[in-house]
Amino acid sequence: MPQYDYDLFVIGAGSGGVRAARLAGKLGKRAAVAEQVQVGGTCVLRGCVPKKLLVYASEYSQSFRDAKNFGWSVDWARFDWATLRDNVQNEVNRLSDIYCKNLDAAGVEIIMDRAVVQDAHTVRLTREGRSVTAERILIAVGGHTYRPGEIKGQEYAITSTDAFLLDELPSRIVIAGGGYIALEFATVFAGLGVETTLVYRGERILRGFDHDIRAHVQAEMQRAGVQILCGSTITEIAPLANGKRLATLSNSMQIEADQVMWAVGRAPNTNGLGLENAGVTLTERGAVKVDAYSRSNVPSIFAVGDVTDRVNLTPVAIREAVAFISTEFQAKPIAMDHADIASAVFCAPPVGSVGLTEEQAREQGHKLCIFRTNFRTMKHVFAGNEQRTLMKLVVDAKTDRVLGVHIAGADAPEMIQLAAIAVKAGLTKAQWDATCAVHPTAAEELVLMGEPVVHDNEAPA
Ligand SMILES: Cc1cc2nc3c(=O)[nH]c(=O)nc-3n(C[C@H](O)[C@H](O)[C@H](O)COP(=O)(O)OP(=O)(O)OC[C@H]3O[C@@H](n4cnc5c(N)ncnc54)[C@H](O)[C@@H]3O)c2cc1C
Repeated sequence: MPQYDYDLFVIGAGSGGVRAARLAGKLGKRAAVAEQVQVGGTCVLRGCVPKKLLVYASEYSQSFRDAKNFGWSVDWARFDWATLRDNVQNEVNRLSDIYCKNLDAAGVEIIMDRAVVQDAHTVRLTREGRSVTAERILIAVGGHTYRPGEIKGQEYAITSTDAFLLDELPSRIVIAGGGYIALEFATVFAGLGVETTLVYRGERILRGFDHDIRAHVQAEMQRAGVQILCGSTITEIAPLANGKRLATLSNSMQIEADQVMWAVGRAPNTNGLGLENAGVTLTERGAVKVDAYSRSNVPSIFAVGDVTDRVNLTPVAIREAVAFISTEFQAKPIAMDHADIASAVFCAPPVGSVGLTEEQAREQGHKLCIFRTNFRTMKHVFAGNEQRTLMKLVVDAKTDRVLGVHIAGADAPEMIQLAAIAVKAGLTKAQWDATCAVHPTAAEELVLMGEPVVHDNEAPA
């Protein structure tokens, strides 16, 4: 008789939890996963997937404008929010079903319940009101949208989760935030014809990205009609008799809008999870503190994904899960490598970024050569579309190694995946330049940047 009910009990069926449970099941382990809302988690149901579908929808308005010089007339184009919203929900539900089928096929037990930790080897299923035991418990509960509770009337604003389900498309929206989720929703709403204002407390949007990219994206979004108010915050939201909202800003400005949206960050889902019952250590932000092998301080409890607040992206949660399974169940320890993870922002123009920003490289003491180009793509010139593309390479002046690649322009998220291979492989600028261009593309500029715009006077070794 085994000592525990399960070899692995996973709490949370999102990107990380599903992958870990499936792999454990495939290895013949007795695995179960508890999910309190719907299998699929943030990425599938209220994050990456529905967001990207909305971004695609929003891009048509510019495509219709661009089409004219290519000989097309699409003056009859009309947009219907309900059709898009319902189709997106159908699609994410379809994906959720596939996740369930895959878990089933791997022999994983799916328990639709909220689970909390009772002790180092016991999980309590709160709706069913029973407890189960497991040799190992994996916390994969993700995070939630942060609401600034101290702001009067904050409850009158929606979050990204609500935005997918709106009854009607607003005519005007105010979005608080300057990170990637705020920018992506601003792009979506603006592209769908909504008068969009972004309110951000910092000096410039996209904190953490390279400064040239931040300036470029901010200018491009403003040129495309998104109002961006930096250096201000929302201090109060009041409901109006006409059903609208009145947002008051720290600069005393007041904006009447159909919707106000919080996109001011996310927080780990550890509240009420019972981790204190097992003595699990949390970080200051309430994330589960783990080592490179996703081990908590309690030997039987592990955590992957957003709940650990390392790099909060889907592919990272999945990789952490794969590394956890390999380490714990296949006797092949893998420490997750969080360096040079590429990321994208699906705003307009979209951003792709990998490796060090110029600021980070300088902070680390590198002497640099900076290569930069700023141009309009052939398609945009022909279409009369003013959007510009910026590409930047951050190169170590001594070793010639390409430390970072930053792109803001059409197809940047697609380009950066390939550039990330070169950055991860530690290739030099000379090796990039030895690569023949693909013509006519925008990406060819990446191997054609001849002279640096900044040279720190440190000859390549
Ligand atoms: C709007 C938005 C857009 C995003 N876009 C991108 C993108 O383009 N690219 C990208 O890489 N990442 C993106 N992300 C981030 C990405 O969604 C997350 O990094 C990823 O989903 C994290 O996976 P996870 O497994 O850690 O958690 P999640 O996917 O959040 O899954 C956690 C699951 O645990 C469940 N749960 C929580 N508590 C309990 C409990 N006590 N018992 C049972 N179940 C519980 C939740 O219901 C949830 O299903 C986006 C996020 C948002 C919000």
